Amino acid sequence: MTFAPIKLPYEENALEPVVSAKTISFHYGKHHKAYADNLNNLVKGTPYENASLEEIVKKSAGNDKEKGIFNNAAQVWNHDFYWQSMTPKGGEPTGKIADALKDSFGGVKEFKEAFAKAAVAQFGAGWAWLVKGKDGKLEITTTSNADTPIAHGKTALFTADVWEHAYYLDYQNRRPDHVKDWLDKLANWSFAEKNL
Ligand code: MN
Repeated sequence: MTFAPIKLPYEENALEPVVSAKTISFHYGKHHKAYADNLNNLVKGTPYENASLEEIVKKSAGNDKEKGIFNNAAQVWNHDFYWQSMTPKGGEPTGKIADALKDSFGGVKEFKEAFAKAAVAQFGAGWAWLVKGKDGKLEITTTSNADTPIAHGKTALFTADVWEHAYYLDYQNRRPDHVKDWLDKLANWSFAEKNL
């Protein structure tokens, strides 16, 4: 199997001004592509050669000898998921997903505050996630570097990339502003609802 980033579900300039076309051209065109290229090279001639991306992520997780494979596979998966976690038609959540947020966090506003706080507190490179735990409750979690909730038995609903490469060209060091705008303008609630 040859791995490649998913096709972007919108034009490169569709998420402006929160995520500029220039950011996407580097983030999607260079960073994400490099993870896929690295993975293709790393799995060549290994038992992973014909496995699905998700299988590779789950099986290589926690195995020190397969750290390179895990990091690149997880980053391909995380970024595929990240592009779908955003939409030019962001706004306030409604319906089933809004009800689920209310049940688990007390309200949409409370959820956004908690998610932003976690995303900002993630030290260094990583990801902030809305996930469904094993008990069916929604949770906020962060992961470092390439780590991903699917390696920990959780179902991801959406994710914000908080590696600097995701926002530095547009927001420089202002991660809190980026995360706030991301939640208010780009978060793809219908994608989250589909993953419920
Ligand atoms: Mn990234």
